[in-house]
Amino acid sequence: MAEKTDNFRVIVVGGGPVALTAAHALSQAGIDFVLLERRKALDKDAGSSVAVWPHNVRLFDQLGLLEEAERTYMPVKYKRNLRRDGTEMSRSDMFEAIGINHGHKWMCFHRAKLMDMLCKNLPDQGKVQLDKEVVSIENTATGVTVTCADQSIHTGSIIIGADGVHSTIRKLMNEKTGKVDEPFVATYRGLYGYSSRSLELEPGVLYETHTKSLTIQLIVAEEQQHFLVYERMAQPTKERTRYTDEDQDTMAQRFADVRFPGMQSDQWVTFAQVWAQRQWSAIGNLEEGIVGKWHSERTVLVGDAVHKMTPNTGFGMNSGLQGVAQLVNRLRALLQANAAPDTDALDKTFREYQTARMGNSKEAVDMSALYTRLVAWNNPVWKFADQYLLPHVNGDVTSLNLLMSPIVQKGVPLDFLEEKSFKAGKYSYHTPPPVVNA
Ligand SMILES: Cc1cc2nc3c(=O)[nH]c(=O)nc-3n(C[C@H](O)[C@H](O)[C@H](O)COP(=O)(O)OP(=O)(O)OC[C@H]3O[C@@H](n4cnc5c(N)ncnc54)[C@H](O)[C@@H]3O)c2cc1C
Repeated sequence: MAEKTDNFRVIVVGGGPVALTAAHALSQAGIDFVLLERRKALDKDAGSSVAVWPHNVRLFDQLGLLEEAERTYMPVKYKRNLRRDGTEMSRSDMFEAIGINHGHKWMCFHRAKLMDMLCKNLPDQGKVQLDKEVVSIENTATGVTVTCADQSIHTGSIIIGADGVHSTIRKLMNEKTGKVDEPFVATYRGLYGYSSRSLELEPGVLYETHTKSLTIQLIVAEEQQHFLVYERMAQPTKERTRYTDEDQDTMAQRFADVRFPGMQSDQWVTFAQVWAQRQWSAIGNLEEGIVGKWHSERTVLVGDAVHKMTPNTGFGMNSGLQGVAQLVNRLRALLQANAAPDTDALDKTFREYQTARMGNSKEAVDMSALYTRLVAWNNPVWKFADQYLLPHVNGDVTSLNLLMSPIVQKGVPLDFLEEKSFKAGKYSYHTPPPVVNA
């Protein structure tokens, strides 16, 4: 049973996967919180796919979510790298290799199902408040006050801003310090969603089209297939672009001819077919970058609010979940020593959290950027290497071993909860399971 840390109350702003995981971790740490989300309902049927790497499956184990996660995820084993016409450049068992490297499997979820799992298993449902768009924040010597668009006022001890890449909390925090810290630049746009499964395609396979300025990832599950189309834009932009449904159709038409090979040698599925079968889709710029200042006074940021990457390698949310672990571990330790920490003590804790996460987050942002550009043949060297060199060195598994597994190995668990189902892999974790007194 979590000990209660009385009077200290966290205001979590946002209701995405990072905020909800923060709510779970705070609840288990016995730290009071309220979660304020702008939308009228949480993402229960929207979104494409989102994969959880094994270091964060460790967190699910600690938070009592592992069994449901194992029942819910869509197994993916193989990766097939294709040219635009569907001919194969290489194939690998990369996703199986992730489990061998790290114990727990790579769990790819329909995002809506992951959100549903996080929402319905949250012990303190009453602490989640929807239709609460935070519009202003005030610091006092001993706490914070947050005002929402509906004029409701919420008081607490600190704010955790988990409100995504266009974070209002980051903007408000920066306004107070007179600092502009908006490093995100989008070079690629993404068209993503899911459709009913094309029966010709093999479930458990991630098909990846590589060609000039374009990549398509098509993850085929038993009932659905999830697609992500990455297109290099004519100019990088810092502006937020508002796209229409027509923009989605226009973008899909540019790639209608892309082909995926079926299970029989004469079967092909085109992207036009995948698009025609779609059940949900969205379009948006894929920002990249990392902010320099993650906290100020009694406000601290996590998730896409501080680091944003292209989703090709699936590390965006994963980096945010690690931020939650590093932040809640430190916050809990602070509150155990001092139930009413002052702003200096909080500042020190937030600074240590940022220091702990900065290197690993930057590695993930840089690695995702490199992968995105390599498979979109950003220059003649990568075009050549991707087609003619990497297939000979099992490029997917080699890049897993050299680039991705080192990030996973640095993953930390919550240091106050047991890992009942810890699994060791070929590559050991730098932080072993915590020893927790009953
Ligand atoms: C197609 C696609 C596939 C992806 N695949 C993966 C993957 O496989 N693995 C992975 O790790 N990552 C993946 N990502 C990245 C991942 O989706 C993000 O990193 C993740 O959603 C970030 O979570 P978050 O909670 O920080 O922010 P968000 O998910 O953006 O949530 C922010 C929340 O804050 C709310 N909000 C905003 N402003 C306010 C306000 N003022 N007041 C109250 N609430 C507010 C929003 O409504 C929203 O609910 C993918 C991204 C895309 C686009």
